Amino acid sequence: MPPSAQERIAGEIKGSRWDHARVRLVVPIIVIVAVAIVCVVVAVLTSAQRADELSTNRQQELIQHAISARGMHMLGQLSSVAGTPAAAAAIRSKYDEAWVTQHIADWLQTYFAHDVTVLVDGSGQIKFIRFRDRSNTSTADLRADLAPSLELLRGRLAALPNGTLDVMRGQDPLKPGSRTVLVQHFLGEPAIVAAVAVGTDADLSSGNGGAPVVFSIKYINGKMLREIGNDLQLTGLRRIDAPPAADEAVTELADGHGDPIVRLAWMPSPPGRDVVKSVLPFIGVALAGFALLVGLVMRYMRRTAQAIAAGESQLRHLAMHDPICGLPNRIYFGERLEAVITKVRAGGPAAAVFYIDLDHFKDVNDTLGHHVGDELILNVTQRLSRIVRGDDLVARLGGDEFAIITTCGSDSYSLQAIAGRIISAVCAPYSINGHTIIIGASIGIAAIDRRARDAADILRYADMALYRAKNEGRNRACIYDAAMDADLSSRKLLEGNLHDAIQNDKLRAAYQPIVNAAGDAVVGVEALARWTHPQMGEIPPSQFIPIAENSGLIVELGELMLRRACLDGANWPGLTVAVNVSPLQFRRSDFVEVVERILKETAFDASRLELEITESTLLGNLDTAELSMLRLKAIGVRFALDDFGTGYSSLLYLRRFPFDKLKIDSSFVRSIETAPDAAAIVHAVVSLGRGLGMKVTAEGVENAEQHLFLRAAGVHSMQGYRFGRPGPADDITARLASPDKYRVRNPDEEIALAS
Ligand code: C2E
Ligand code: CA
Ligand code: CA
Repeated sequence: MPPSAQERIAGEIKGSRWDHARVRLVVPIIVIVAVAIVCVVVAVLTSAQRADELSTNRQQELIQHAISARGMHMLGQLSSVAGTPAAAAAIRSKYDEAWVTQHIADWLQTYFAHDVTVLVDGSGQIKFIRFRDRSNTSTADLRADLAPSLELLRGRLAALPNGTLDVMRGQDPLKPGSRTVLVQHFLGEPAIVAAVAVGTDADLSSGNGGAPVVFSIKYINGKMLREIGNDLQLTGLRRIDAPPAADEAVTELADGHGDPIVRLAWMPSPPGRDVVKSVLPFIGVALAGFALLVGLVMRYMRRTAQAIAAGESQLRHLAMHDPICGLPNRIYFGERLEAVITKVRAGGPAAAVFYIDLDHFKDVNDTLGHHVGDELILNVTQRLSRIVRGDDLVARLGGDEFAIITTCGSDSYSLQAIAGRIISAVCAPYSINGHTIIIGASIGIAAIDRRARDAADILRYADMALYRAKNEGRNRACIYDAAMDADLSSRKLLEGNLHDAIQNDKLRAAYQPIVNAAGDAVVGVEALARWTHPQMGEIPPSQFIPIAENSGLIVELGELMLRRACLDGANWPGLTVAVNVSPLQFRRSDFVEVVERILKETAFDASRLELEITESTLLGNLDTAELSMLRLKAIGVRFALDDFGTGYSSLLYLRRFPFDKLKIDSSFVRSIETAPDAAAIVHAVVSLGRGLGMKVTAEGVENAEQHLFLRAAGVHSMQGYRFGRPGPADDITARLASPDKYRVRNPDEEIALAS
């Protein structure tokens, strides 16, 4: 069957449920992982940046320190030549220019690569000047450039002048000193200017106001910066005046006001960037790992979700379907019925529910076993499924109950037509495991129109109609109508009354004579149940027998009738006593024993007992039915096939079962005069029965014409109002005592007389 809209919707709901779950689970995982990754990256980058900053700061300090160190170095070198007693003698006592040139200027410039040497005397006059670069013949006035150091040594400053940086740090400008080093501009170029007062300790202890001072100057030029760069392993250390190139680090040597004296730039090798560079591949690998992990988790979750969804739909299928035949079960049916009712109320096409009850399925199960029963259910399922249209629903509601929801028709004519198709499909013989099985079906139909309330109501209506169908003789369908409600309750009431009547032995037996073909001799009687209701009076068997059959009361009723007939029949030696046996009674496993016991108890001659059964009695498991018949026949009991022509009229029964008699149904007898084919059928049935070695009895013979026809056709015996109505046992006894009183006229004479 194609998936219903409900199943599709269920599938979609499941899909979106999975999507929802995925969003709820996966999104947080992705967010957490993403946040973790971002944190790691940010941590790496900021710590790298911090490391870079620290490294640059450190390099700035190192550069400044290197320049200061050079200044101190220069001062040391200068002191070693100008701060000696020899120098004091050569300069202060008796000025010796040759000595100054050789021992100070040449020495400092040749061995220590100082750039300029200057000597200033106590009065501030420049006495000596020498450039290492001999081409430099500058005559510029150096006094301004020398003044800061000079004044500092003389102790004549309030503060360090602008544009100078004290390398020694902590010199008190107000006190005279013997040595100093400043970073400042000298002849327009940044330089380190070292100065030493010349004189012995004794000369200088009284201040150095009049001491000559030797200056030695070294430019902070490319060469010095290269050396510093080499020492500190810095690339491209250079002096800049313009803004630095991108990526270059900058440091300044500034004066006391923060104004730069010299700006230096170099290309830093930031360790953080290196770290980032070396860490990046690992982060990349970790990221790829995370992505892979997330992918794997997603795939695992998807698989798990799919497995769960599959399990769920399997469970749902199991919960909604019958395990034996795979048809939707009562729950599914209920849901669909509600949906159909809603649709009909909303203006959709009218629909109907068929409630199908299999007759005799239980017997098959009990006698042939569950595996045959299950196989039978499967066969019924297939047949029912073939009848319905694509979007109609076939369901199994219980053991032997099926239901169909169809939109194929809503008027009673088409509903009955569908029911007819269902009945003939279900009632055709089955062959299962070598057994031939025939079952019956009763159907209750409830039409669903816009007034329909709910599934429970519709099912109740269908159930009521089913009850009626069973009461009306099974293998038929009834359509629910409002009158059934009242009818049902009156039937239920009647059922209770019937139960009481049986318990209190209030049922009676009436006997109808069965005569020979000539109609002049009673050959037997048929026992018929009679019930006089205390309030309602005489209730016809057509009314109470179906109630007894549906309620199971028929078993007791049947035994009661059998015992009564055997007791009464004892008074009529030579007569056959026919007793009706209901299907329910016949199929009980103890049926044979019950008959044997009653025969024994009443001491009735078994060969005078004739059990009348209808074709429907034999339905179900034909083998057990045959066995029961054979066992009873073995003790002499005879069997008549009652109402022949109304049921299945299957030749199968006639050939297979050892009937002694065939009773042609009164409906044929009635139509002999009116329907020409009825006469032909009667002829055929008579010759069929004779051919199979059976006696033929015609029922319901009311007039001379029928009598004449049937006699001519070769019927062996007859029963009907023409020969006697059912009556109390005493009537039969009286009739047997004086047969002449009851003799019917010869039909020829009667017809001749009448015309
Ligand atoms: P049935 O076995 O076919 O019994 C014959 C029915 O035809 C009887 O109806 C009888 O009164 C009626 N009948 C006989 N001759 C004529 C006639 O010339 N014209 C007309 N119109 N009817 C005639 P009854 O007694 O109403 O019984 C109806 C059915 O109830 C029986 O049909 C039988 O199937 C069932 N029944 C009656 N008693 C018992 C019983 O004790 N046990 C069982 N299981 N069924 C019974
Ligand atoms: Ca009968
Ligand atoms: Ca009959």
